[in-house]
Amino acid sequence: MNRLRVRKRIFLAFLGTFIVLCFAVLFLNSKAAPSRDTLVVGVPSDRCPVFYVDPVSYETVGIGVDLIKKVADEAGYDVEITTITEPNLKEALDNNAYDIVMPFGSSIQSAKGKNTIVTENIMETPFTLVTIKDDTLPTLNSLKIGMPVSLKGVSETVQKLHPGMKIVYYDDIGESVKGLKRGEVDALLNNSYVWSYVLQKPSYINLHVQPSAMFSMGFKAGTVDTIEGREIIKRLDTGISKIKETQVEAITLDYTTRRLYHYDIFDYLYLYGAFIILGTLLFAAVIGTMVFRQRSISLIQEERVRRLIDHDELTDVYSMNGFRKRVEDILRKNPSVPYFLSYNNIVDFKFINDSFGKETGDKLLKFWAKISKEILSDDEAIGRVTSDQFVILRRIEGNARIYEDEKDVVEPVNNYLISQGKNFKVQICSGIYVITPDDIQNMDVDHMIDFARIAERKLRESGKTGFEFYNLNQWESKKRAVEIVGHLSSAIESGEVQVWYQPQVDFSTNKIIGAEALCRWAHGNLGWISPGEFIPALENSGKIYELDCFVWEKVCQDLHRWNTVGKRMTISVNVSRNDIEENPNIHLLFVGLIRKYDLGFDQLHIEITESAYVADSTMLNKTTDTLRSYGFQVEMDDFGSGYSSLNMLKELSVDRIKLDLRFLTGPGFEEKGQIILSYLIQMIQLLGIDLLAEGVETLEQANFLKEKGCVEMQGFYFHKPMSVIDFEDII
Ligand code: C2E
Ligand code: MG
Ligand code: MG
Repeated sequence: MNRLRVRKRIFLAFLGTFIVLCFAVLFLNSKAAPSRDTLVVGVPSDRCPVFYVDPVSYETVGIGVDLIKKVADEAGYDVEITTITEPNLKEALDNNAYDIVMPFGSSIQSAKGKNTIVTENIMETPFTLVTIKDDTLPTLNSLKIGMPVSLKGVSETVQKLHPGMKIVYYDDIGESVKGLKRGEVDALLNNSYVWSYVLQKPSYINLHVQPSAMFSMGFKAGTVDTIEGREIIKRLDTGISKIKETQVEAITLDYTTRRLYHYDIFDYLYLYGAFIILGTLLFAAVIGTMVFRQRSISLIQEERVRRLIDHDELTDVYSMNGFRKRVEDILRKNPSVPYFLSYNNIVDFKFINDSFGKETGDKLLKFWAKISKEILSDDEAIGRVTSDQFVILRRIEGNARIYEDEKDVVEPVNNYLISQGKNFKVQICSGIYVITPDDIQNMDVDHMIDFARIAERKLRESGKTGFEFYNLNQWESKKRAVEIVGHLSSAIESGEVQVWYQPQVDFSTNKIIGAEALCRWAHGNLGWISPGEFIPALENSGKIYELDCFVWEKVCQDLHRWNTVGKRMTISVNVSRNDIEENPNIHLLFVGLIRKYDLGFDQLHIEITESAYVADSTMLNKTTDTLRSYGFQVEMDDFGSGYSSLNMLKELSVDRIKLDLRFLTGPGFEEKGQIILSYLIQMIQLLGIDLLAEGVETLEQANFLKEKGCVEMQGFYFHKPMSVIDFEDII
């Protein structure tokens, strides 16, 4: 039992010693293994497939990397591949961070001029020239070639081989191709493996490899010539000697058969540009059509909604909303056209509905709306207020128009039910409101409708039918204005409008020194109408220019006639502010008349009323200056009429002022008036402006004026305005 235990102990001790020994041997063995040096290799990364960055691992790989790894391994090195940051290998040689750099064709000098040593050839690299056309090249020695600046290391070797070759450096291959296309170089030089990669780019399709110009160059690693450098090169050379040709071929074959070139966006554009553009255009057209369709649909819908809001469905005239907008629009666009607004209502419409049925009532309304619409022009409008009430905006064209409307609309509506075989006469009440200039200034259509409604209600409540005015006076004056304006052209033609003359005298000699042309109108319907009525009506309607042109021409004809019989006269004509607004070059018109009738510029005096100067002094002063520069006499009419300011006298540039006594003298010829007048005369004379007093009615006034130094006068005391025949008698 004891012996057995002793044997077991001996066995365990033996086993323990064995295990300890085993560990010791293992430990010692590991300590004894020789350590490998790490070789830092600087390489470029822009030379696929020789050196390039793998898009997946982001490591620098390629034929060159695999070869140096193999060589270094044989030489007992571990390899650390680093992408060189210098622009080319020559400069990289000066960086101590790399143990070796590659690839070199032969030993070169570093950028700082240090000598280098290189390994034996790791392989022979084919170099090829590429040109645009497939031509044969001149001798290599006389070529101008382009290459990327990163190949500067190679270029030294190239230069040694072909000293006559000129080299142009470009930032990269892409730039060098552009240089070739621009004709800056005859050909581009690069590693054949690199070309095999680069020429896959679709846009380089017209680049051609020149097989005849192929030559090979060594593919070596190099470093600066130092003791350590030599040691490394020596060790690498032993590694190179162990590499077999077949291994090199296997590595190059491996990379050159890979599909390394990947199309970028520009390649796709180059290849499929036309399709892409067509596709984009097609897509844009489809989107455009869709947007347009959508827009049209929403416009149609908008239009539909607007129609619903602005139109009355039953009668297809404007709704109140639409009518309001339309009236505002029409009045704004035609501010000088006289309009009235009528409010129209069927008497006992409820009775019609109850007795003949709602349908008949509706038909009556539709009929009324239809025939009313037919008589309206584009700048008139009709709207439905509620059930049987319509509002109409219509131009004022005198009483005749009212009777026409009566016949065309009112009578057919009156007889509508009778014509349908029902024994009932439809009656209408209309209230009329004449739209005033004030209404157009402060546009409130509802207000105007209210006035028309008041007149309609008044008529209805009085038990009458037909129409009633809200503002009869306005209607009368509007009607007269319409008669005046509407007849102007025919009145001029028919001789209704005449030019009369009121002589102007020099009170000191009692001689006639000129006359003012004043318009007279014997209207066919209205009889004699005064300029005080027709001049403002024509000014408001924009027709004054037509009248004045007639007057000016007539005056010039008369002046010409008097000239030819030796009675040279001077006539003042009135020019309205609207004339100058109508024709800013009015001076040309007067110059034309003077030339046409062979007159002197001094024979025509141009009177512009004082109020015009107040309204737009800049424009008036400009016109005055131009007229005066031609030799016309410009006169300011109606001075003292209430607008004059002393300041105005300072700015004025007129030849004569017409002082209107009617504004300055009240009833009688009171003391205060005389004081003002005498100072005014004195002031005007001191300013060197000629003066004529008009509206002189009494000898007393004439004597007073003469005493104060104003001798030129015009007024009933001397002569009233007279016809040409009478005027010719007294001159
Ligand atoms: P106006 O240019 O100041 O013309 C003078 C007005 O005073 C004339 O009125 C004339 O008849 C009136 N008159 C002359 N002497 C006296 C007088 O002693 N007492 C009174 N109470 N009145 C006198 P008429 O012809 O009625 O013309 C009124 C205005 O109409 C003119 O004032 C002028 O501004 C304008 N007018 C007249 N004819 C034309 C014309 O052909 N074209 C233009 N644009 N305006 C004209
Ligand atoms: Mg005048
Ligand atoms: Mg006057």
